[in-house]
Amino acid sequence: MEVCRLENVKKSYEADENVTPIKQVSLSINSGNFLCIEGPSGIGKSTLLYIIGGLLNISSGNVFIDGKNINTMTDKELTDIRRNKIGFIFQDSNLIQALTIEENLIFVQSMVNKKKDYGKVKELLTRLGLWERKNFLPNELSGGQRRRAMVACALIKDPLLILADEPTNDLDEYWANEVINLLSEVVDNGKSVVLVTHNTLWAEKAQLRFDLSNGVLHEKQCL
Ligand code: ADP
Ligand code: MG
Repeated sequence: MEVCRLENVKKSYEADENVTPIKQVSLSINSGNFLCIEGPSGIGKSTLLYIIGGLLNISSGNVFIDGKNINTMTDKELTDIRRNKIGFIFQDSNLIQALTIEENLIFVQSMVNKKKDYGKVKELLTRLGLWERKNFLPNELSGGQRRRAMVACALIKDPLLILADEPTNDLDEYWANEVINLLSEVVDNGKSVVLVTHNTLWAEKAQLRFDLSNGVLHEKQCL
């Protein structure tokens, strides 16, 4: 099943200077795909991830999510899709500062109309080494612990598609490996993952690898 499709997408930012990080990108993401997008800092990887998740207006082209062109969706339809079907792991923290880590996860679970499943909250927090920190606020955690909490918030939704923007930043090799393992399990369960990373070691876990350069995606050979 096709989860997301980009057709000839172009994206310019009209700030002081016109910047066009995405010039012409077409991409199809199917259930069970593990994609990785690589490229140097500032090239447009985060921009592309936001476009895939329907978070940015594009300059031209089409974006289809779950079979529907987002141009034809109402604001409510698009919000529902982003909330229920897509799990974002942003580069910067999007945790709610006033809630503990455990409450953050429960809040996300209640937002996505999922039945409360406390067992899953506990399982994820344990798996990510955060169970002992469950009553801490985000700003009481280390950078790496916060990153793992952001991963937990995306996974608790059990979404169709996970968009992970440098999810191993601030993590040592042990926890980075654990995060990548969790993302691989999502794929094994028939869902899809798009990973943005600089790190070749983690990029090699993906089935489909692309380099973003000069506004265009180039598919790389995978072993
Ligand atoms: P990457 O994730 O690969 O580091 P980004 O997608 O964040 O790159 O940014 C790509 C380019 O687009 C950069 O040159 C950046 O300055 C520019 N850019 C990103 N967001 C905005 C914005 N909101 N307004 C203007 N320019 C932006
Ligand atoms: Mg980025």
